[in-house]
Amino acid sequence: MIKIHVNITVILLFCFFASIKVIAQTEIKPVEKYVDFGFKKVEARKIEAIIVHSVFNNSGGDFYDVDLILKQFSRYRVSAHYVIGRDGTIYQLVKERDIAYHAGKSQLPDGRKGVNSCSIGIELIIAFTETPTNEQIQALAALTNNIKSRYTIKFVLRHSDIAPGRKTDPWNMNWDDFLSKLN
Ligand SMILES: [Zn+2]
Repeated sequence: MIKIHVNITVILLFCFFASIKVIAQTEIKPVEKYVDFGFKKVEARKIEAIIVHSVFNNSGGDFYDVDLILKQFSRYRVSAHYVIGRDGTIYQLVKERDIAYHAGKSQLPDGRKGVNSCSIGIELIIAFTETPTNEQIQALAALTNNIKSRYTIKFVLRHSDIAPGRKTDPWNMNWDDFLSKLN
């Protein structure tokens, strides 16, 4: 009888820790790498769009080195809110409440221009000839769902959707597969 009781306790404990793991997977804990360029502090803004980009270091050295990519951003005085590394690590560069300069000349499907002011920008580290890794897509979906749970998001779009003819990123990405992972 005692043995059965112990077994049930073990099973219940297992279920408890398994459920904690599921919750932990949806929690977002970005690595903080706040920048001092490429953004503007504002009193308040309405966040309605998520824009997905891709980037790599094309200034020599490792394509995928996040610090070299940040140096590249600093030269152009641009930034996104988040960068997602090849291993799925999420780096936060700009607070969500601030406007990051990631979209440039752009337009939403409803005709609004100046997409930076109402959007959160996310960069995936991808070289031109590579595809995003599974870890990156999982992290992007988790981050997007997390953002969607906190704001009324009307649009989840690619940079190429809001700046057609001018921008082609995110590169080599199965967009429909990513959209199918969103809540
Ligand atoms: Zn872009």
